[in-house]
Formats: sequence, structure tokens, C-alpha cells
Amino acid sequence: MTMTNRQPQLSIQNFQKIFKTGDGVKGVSLDVFKGELVTLLGPSGCGKTTVLRAVGGFQEPDSGDILIEGKSVLKVPPEKRPTAMVFQSYNLWPHMTVYDNLAFGLKIRGRKKEEIRAAVDKVLHLVRLPGTENKMPSQLSGGQQQRIAVARALLLDPAVLLLDEPFSALDAKLRLEMREELREIQSSTGLTMVFVTHDQEEALSISDRIVVMNSGRIEQLDSPQRIYDHPESLFVAQFIGRMNFLPAQGEGSVVDIQGRRFAVERPVEGAVTAAIRPEDIVLLDGEEAKDQLSFQATIRQVMVLGHYAEVTADTVAGPIKLFVPREQAAALEHGQSVPIGFMRVTAFHR
Ligand code: ATP
Repeated sequence: MTMTNRQPQLSIQNFQKIFKTGDGVKGVSLDVFKGELVTLLGPSGCGKTTVLRAVGGFQEPDSGDILIEGKSVLKVPPEKRPTAMVFQSYNLWPHMTVYDNLAFGLKIRGRKKEEIRAAVDKVLHLVRLPGTENKMPSQLSGGQQQRIAVARALLLDPAVLLLDEPFSALDAKLRLEMREELREIQSSTGLTMVFVTHDQEEALSISDRIVVMNSGRIEQLDSPQRIYDHPESLFVAQFIGRMNFLPAQGEGSVVDIQGRRFAVERPVEGAVTAAIRPEDIVLLDGEEAKDQLSFQATIRQVMVLGHYAEVTADTVAGPIKLFVPREQAAALEHGQSVPIGFMRVTAFHR
């Protein structure tokens, strides 16, 4: 799908907001297209919430512009913006029934009673909670309350739905379920969403595109697959997924790690850091071990994690971790020396 000639649903243009402390957002530009789920991902304090709040109208920028469906919304107060926001804490009104919580926004917009009833009924089915109209929020579990909060936002029919760490208060299993549900809601409604999280696994699993942020700036903006397979900076390589880092020497399109030379995608020169994912390190058998690219690895620890094992080993280039299928791991012993190979190496200037 080419996105170049379409008007973005949301366009953040050189957004800046620096707080007195000197922290904040130092220039973020981002276009989000209709029906896309874009995640702002980064460590605590990187500025992702500030960007989201600015889109919702809760944070005024120092400079830059925010356009929704082609129109600047900077002068539009939050309640008039074509956005709706879901927070980590569900923010349901405790003294109102589920129905009244959901109907409120439509009532103040002057919708007819029958119309509201039908809309509430429809959205409760969408979030898989039909029949809960007369319950009070306190009678619902955390996950159910968050579903109601999502339903309430959906009822406002926003041009952009903003979600600020919406699942981080839920337990791990429920979080997984909610991710799937949000994806389903997105595909059935075609809604445009901006999602904030510091959880890389959550970002990788639900996003069409991910914005990795660091210290108020965008480090990389890409599909989850590309962010994982082709991190553009050492920061992204460190932040996303598991990674081994070994000192190396860049020689253009190859890097030298202790005398073994590996091709790399992006040319590098001089002292660099070579990055290798644990799943890209393999145990070699007899013949393959004669390969001049192989390393001897001394096994230090084998930790079986279900269908695979995480193995820690020492090499001349430094300590590494690799993932090994459980059957192979069973044969490994502490102190044993085994040949290994690197399937893929990425390199970064230090
Ligand atoms: P978290 O995940 O912890 O919420 P974040 O990436 O969402 O982090 P922001 O909340 O956007 O980060 O904050 C970015 C930086 O700006 C942080 O250093 C934060 O302390 C600072 N900051 C945010 N809001 C304010 C404020 N109102 N006054 C002063 N500093 C602020």
C-alpha cells in the first residue's frame, strides 16, 4: 500500500515542547494514515505522552503544528477536537452505570434516546460486554472496566483514537487478550489509532508502524518487522528485543570480529559495535565447524524456557547469549566447548 499521495489523518509537524527542566519533545514529525495503528514507543521520559497529550489538546506545543484531516487543531479545545483518549486508569464515573457512562458523551451532543441506546448496544457487543448496561463500574474487573473505557471513546466516533498505556494496569494474560481485541476493533471499525507504550513486545505485536523515541526525538519510524530486523541505531538495537553486542572493526561493507569477517547492510568504518540477535547464533556440527567464520563457545549456563533454551557462553569476542531448540540444549554441558556461527550481523558506530 502506498501512502505518499494520500492526506494523512493525523499530521504532527515539527512538534516541540521543552519543559523548564530542559526535558520534553525536541522536534517530532509524524504522519498517521486512516486506519493505521501507530505506536509511540520509548523509555520513561522520552516524550511519548507529551506528544499524545498534545494531539488530544491537553498540552500546548512551543512550536510546530498538529493537523487532523488536513486542519490545524491547535486552537481547538480538547472537548471539541475530533479525538478521544483512553488512559491507563479507566476514568469511568464510579456513581454511574455502564450505560450512563457510555451514553453521557452522546447525550451532551444532543443525540436521540433510541439512537443512543442502539449505539451503546452496538459498542458493548464490539467490546464483548453485552448485557452489562446496568452494572456499576465497581462490579466489573479491571479488564472489563478498560473495555468500557475503550467503548466510551469509540462512541465519540473520533477521527483519531489516542491510547495512553491503556493496558499497563492489567495482568499479563489479560494484556495479551486486550491487544488482540484492540486489533480486532481496529480492523472492524477502520479507526485510526495512536498508542503509547513503553512495552516493546506490546508495540511489536499490535502496531502497523512504530515510532521509537529517545530523549524527545524520533530514533526510528518503521514497521515492527523492520524495527526488529533493521534497527537504525544502537539505541533501537538495545531497546528492541534481545541483542548481543561485541566489539568489532568496520571495514566498509564488512566487519571484523576477532579475525572473522561478516557482511553488514550498512557500511561502517573503524571501531564499531557488532550486534547479533540470540536467534541468529547457531550451534554448528562437525563439518560446518571447519568454517573459518565459526567461533568456539564455552557453555556457561543453559536455561530451558519451554520449547527453547537460553544459553550463555563465552567466546574470544566476549560473552554471548543464544537461543537453542530444547532437544539440542539437552546435550550441552557446563564448560563444554562448541562451535557456533553468526547468521546475521549488524554494526553501529559507537
Ligand atoms: P512516561 O512513560 O514515564 O510517561 P514519557 O515518554 O511519556 O514517559 P513524557 O511524560 O512525555 O514522557 O515526559 C517527557 C519529559 O518531559 C520527561 O522528562 C518529563 O519529566 C518531562 N515533563 C513532562 N510533563 C512535564 C511538565 N508538565 N512539567 C515539567 N516537565 C514535564
